[in-house]
Amino acid sequence: MAIVDRSPWAVAGEHVQIGYGSGTRVALDAPSIRLKRGTRTALIGPNGAGKSTLLKAIVGLQPLTSGSMTVLGYPVGTCQQRIAYVPQRRDVDWRFPITVNDVALMGRDVHRRWPRRPQRTDYAIVREALEMVGMNAWAHHPIAALSGGQQQRVFLARALAQHAELLLLDEPFVGVDTATEAIIHRVITRLISTGCTVVVATHDLASIQTHFDAAVLLQQRIIANGTPLDVLQPSLLAEAYGGPLALFVGKDSHGLAD
Ligand code: ADP
Ligand code: MG
Repeated sequence: MAIVDRSPWAVAGEHVQIGYGSGTRVALDAPSIRLKRGTRTALIGPNGAGKSTLLKAIVGLQPLTSGSMTVLGYPVGTCQQRIAYVPQRRDVDWRFPITVNDVALMGRDVHRRWPRRPQRTDYAIVREALEMVGMNAWAHHPIAALSGGQQQRVFLARALAQHAELLLLDEPFVGVDTATEAIIHRVITRLISTGCTVVVATHDLASIQTHFDAAVLLQQRIIANGTPLDVLQPSLLAEAYGGPLALFVGKDSHGLAD
């Protein structure tokens, strides 16, 4: 498939509305959305704001109710093999009887034509990916036997093994230890250095200025989209979260309670 355009946008949408079922309720209404290529973007907003909905729409799992969107220059839903997606923990059945190695190997599926078996290079790539997240020693353990942080790292390894151009992580820091958090940030930084684009839904507002280039604040619509400094404004956060919120960014604190 030829690349449709080489625009600077990893995601570009116009008049996007996304809803569920046949009802008229819209989970996300975005007249215009732009996520820049080669950057780390944080999607923030309260529960139910539409963060997961937007990620699912980008990967093509949730159809747009209306509007249009291109992802990496392709019409949405037509370039899944270029996108690695790690769903939020509660959307995954962790009891599935499968080893760490096999989970990571799934990242290679998009590069293989069925029924071709994984090749030596696939195993080498998987080993490297597991090494990068510090999980090689667990390769033959069932995924169900791991801690939450370890499971998140294995899913990150699966995404790494895919060699995707766009990585979408849905709340990867929830329920993980600080070592895992540091590994996730390290992997993201490394991917960015190779030209990958990374979009992360997160509740961890305090780390956004340090770890992200851009932020999109959602509450069923896009309240703000810009640099972390532009977006993490008390008035904008109050609009999204609808109540008192104290955010500490470096030495400055934005108190929304007063
Ligand atoms: P967030 O990830 O920011 O917490 P979601 O994208 O999960 O928000 O949800 C956005 C809105 O869409 C919420 O009102 C939620 O109830 C609704 N929603 C999400 N998933 C479904 C679904 N599978 N069926 C119906 N409504 C859904
Ligand atoms: Mg969510």
